[in-house]
Amino acid sequence: MYQPKLLLCTDMDRTVIPNGIQPEHPDARKRFRKFCKQPGVSLVYVTGRHQTLVKQAIKNFVLPEPDFVITDVGTKIYQVIDDKWLELRSWEEEIDKDWHGKNREQIQQLLSNITELNLQENSKQNTHKLSYYLPMNIDKDKVIHRIEKCLNQEGIAASVIWSIDEPKDIGLLDVIPRNATKLHAIEFLQQRLRYKPHEVIFAGDSGNDLPVLCSRINSVLVANAGDEIKKLAQHSAEQNGQVEALYIARADKLNMNGNYSAGVLQGVWHFAPDFRDALRQAGIFP
Ligand SMILES: [Mg+2]
Repeated sequence: MYQPKLLLCTDMDRTVIPNGIQPEHPDARKRFRKFCKQPGVSLVYVTGRHQTLVKQAIKNFVLPEPDFVITDVGTKIYQVIDDKWLELRSWEEEIDKDWHGKNREQIQQLLSNITELNLQENSKQNTHKLSYYLPMNIDKDKVIHRIEKCLNQEGIAASVIWSIDEPKDIGLLDVIPRNATKLHAIEFLQQRLRYKPHEVIFAGDSGNDLPVLCSRINSVLVANAGDEIKKLAQHSAEQNGQVEALYIARADKLNMNGNYSAGVLQGVWHFAPDFRDALRQAGIFP
């Protein structure tokens, strides 16, 4: 019998973890867990969190166990087999090329005379992620420019990613290999596991999901995402000629509110007609 397959890739915070201000439908996560157990469904978490924080979230929020996990904003990929997390060395080799044979410590050394940068704690660093704090009163663009100039001179292809830790009111600056993004990591898994384009779905809610949301990968933006990101995603998808590959979840579909995992399931209904029976099995009806 023909068994359709689906590589369901989803962001965690405010996408399947209901840690935003909007309400979660009381049955959403239960149905999501049920759906993920259906034959043919492989679940991939794609997150900025590191391994320990992913495991914590799975436990605290009773999330389904994943088959793969892309962590640390794309710098690590793990395969999960019977609770064991095995790092994909082939991904490490792939992104190693960007750093021109240099490791994190060597790159840190290269940036040591940019004194505005304060190194983050050891737990926040990994082999392919060099993370700093940058005080909010410092001109971040100037600092980023200096970093880029310095790395370019050494032939290092890196992405410098700036974000804000809002509760702590401090800037965060990550230096990672240029190809170590959520988008490239998903494409890498897709190819390695031999999924066709229509067999892959991504779900997300915010800025660092945007490159995937407006790519050719079928993507759902959950309803609880902010209006600004909805507009931006739509606009970028139009520019990339990928309007058909973006679905924005809405409150009036599938008898749930479209927030968090309810939105993810809406996206599956929209993009994967082969899985509508599996969705019905999980208690989801149009
Ligand atoms: Mg998120």
